[in-house]
Amino acid sequence: MKHDDCIFCKIVAGEIPSAKVYEDEHVYAFLDISQVTTGHTLVIPKVHTTDIFETPAEIAGELFARVPKIANAIKQVYNPEGVNLLNNNGIFAGQSVYHLHIHIIPRYDDKDGFNAKWVTRDDQFYLGELQEMAKDINDAI
Ligand code: AMP
Ligand code: ZN
Repeated sequence: MKHDDCIFCKIVAGEIPSAKVYEDEHVYAFLDISQVTTGHTLVIPKVHTTDIFETPAEIAGELFARVPKIANAIKQVYNPEGVNLLNNNGIFAGQSVYHLHIHIIPRYDDKDGFNAKWVTRDDQFYLGELQEMAKDINDAI
């Protein structure tokens, strides 16, 4: 279903121009206008889904199934040292467009424009606490 006020739905519909990388029945991929690193690509489902929380498993499966071949094509063209896959959900996770998307961000070196900061806390949790937390999450599945 298309959302009339969604910029990515408009891109899928061809109402807004994009640099298309790939398209098939389920998925559309295009270059991110911000090009955090060269080849930075967004992979989106053609049907509108706001974020990972409201995405049915079938749509998530079709979406992620295309990521390896698109990542390999980017690797072939730009020869990066690696790629980061990123999917932001919610404002504090950095989501700015509310149509599910996976960023494929090629990595060239550690000063190439992408930087995810991890503050590790592995000295603050005992295994028993982690297992209790894991059980809570598992119970909710
Ligand atoms: P996020 O912040 O994870 O929601 O990512 C949204 C991304 O969409 C940003 O990296 C934007 O640069 C990108 N973006 C927004 N509008 C367009 C557009 N018209 N064409 C290509 N990329 C876009
Ligand atoms: Zn949409």
